[in-house]
Amino acid sequence: MSKHFYNSRTAATSRLLVIFALFFAPALAGCDGAGSGGGGLTIGAQSNSTTNAVAANANTSNANAPAARPAFDGERAFAHVKKMVEMGPRPAGSQELAKTRDYIKGELQSGGLKVSTDEWDAQTPGGTKHMANVVAEIAGKSPDVILVASHYDTKPFKEFRFVGANDAGSSTGTLIEIARAVAATHQQPALTYWFVFFDGEEAFCNGWDECKTPDKQPDNTYGSRHMVERLKSQGQLPRVRAMILLDMMGYKNLTLARDDMGTRWLEDIIWQTGKELGYGNIFVEGTEGVGGDDHEPFLSAGVYACDLIQLEKYPYWHTADDTLDKISPKSLQAVGETIVASLPRIERNVARPAQ
Ligand SMILES: [Zn+2]
Repeated sequence: MSKHFYNSRTAATSRLLVIFALFFAPALAGCDGAGSGGGGLTIGAQSNSTTNAVAANANTSNANAPAARPAFDGERAFAHVKKMVEMGPRPAGSQELAKTRDYIKGELQSGGLKVSTDEWDAQTPGGTKHMANVVAEIAGKSPDVILVASHYDTKPFKEFRFVGANDAGSSTGTLIEIARAVAATHQQPALTYWFVFFDGEEAFCNGWDECKTPDKQPDNTYGSRHMVERLKSQGQLPRVRAMILLDMMGYKNLTLARDDMGTRWLEDIIWQTGKELGYGNIFVEGTEGVGGDDHEPFLSAGVYACDLIQLEKYPYWHTADDTLDKISPKSLQAVGETIVASLPRIERNVARPAQ
C-alpha cells in the first residue's frame, strides 16, 4: 500500500538468509562468549553513556545468531491498538487507563506470562495521580534482565479528544505481542525478560518540559523514573543489562532513524536485524531527535538503552488526528518481528562470562 514498504522478493531472499543464519551459523560459530572478540559484538568495560565504546563489529548474522525465531503477529498487535483506541483518551489516573491496564494484564496472562503491577501516587502539576507500571516476566537461566518497554498512557488534552493510536497505542499493542511471542516458544531464555508498560510518560502540562512537579521533578516519564528509583533502592538495577523502548512506531509510512541518545551497539543489532529481515526501508540510517523519553532515566543510571520512535516524520503527533487510520499492521509486524529476532543477539552481547 505504501511506497515505504519493502520489496517482497528482496524480503523473501533476506528471510532465507536469516533463517540460514539462525539455524546453521551457531554450529559453525562454536561457543563464542560475549566479549571474547570472536567475531561478534563485544561490550566495552566502562559504564554506559550514549557514547560508550562497544566494538560495533556488526557481524550479527553469525556469531550472535539466535537459536530460533518465534513468530510475531502484527494483525493481533493491531487488534490491541484498535481495542485501546475504542476505550477513548487514556491519561494517567483515569478510569480508561485502569481499563486499559486490565486489558493488557489479561492479554499477557492469557499468553502464559507472569504479570505484576507496581502502583504509587505521583505528585503532578495536575494534582496527585494514582499510577501503575505493569511488568510481565519470563524468568531466564540468568537473573540478568533484558527489558523491553512502552508507555501505555495517553497525553491529557482539554482542547480536543486525543485517542493516541500511535502514541502509545501502537507500541503498547506491539509489546503485548512481543511478550506473547517470546513466551510462546516455551523455551527458557538465557536471560530474564521484563516486558514493561510504563504509566505517566506524558506530561500534564502541554509542553513536555513546560512544568515541574511540586517536588521539582520533571513533568513526564513518571513510570520509568519510578522504576529506576525502585530498582536502585532494591539494589536490583545492575541486573538490567539492556533496555529497548518502543514509542510511536505504528505509522503506515514508518521510517525509524536512530534516536540521538541511544546506545550505539544496541541500535546496531536492531537496525542490522531489521535490514536482514527485509525492512531496510523502515530501519533507515539517520538521527531522530528524541529529547528525552522513558529510556532516559535508564541511560542516566548507566543502563544500555535505545528508543524506536518516529517523531519528526509523524505529522499527527499530539493532535486529534492521531487515530487508528494512521496505523498499519505491517509497521507493527516489521518492528515486532525485528525486536523478537534481535533479542537472542542482544542476550549474547550482554551475557556475563561463566564463573
Ligand atoms: Zn506523546
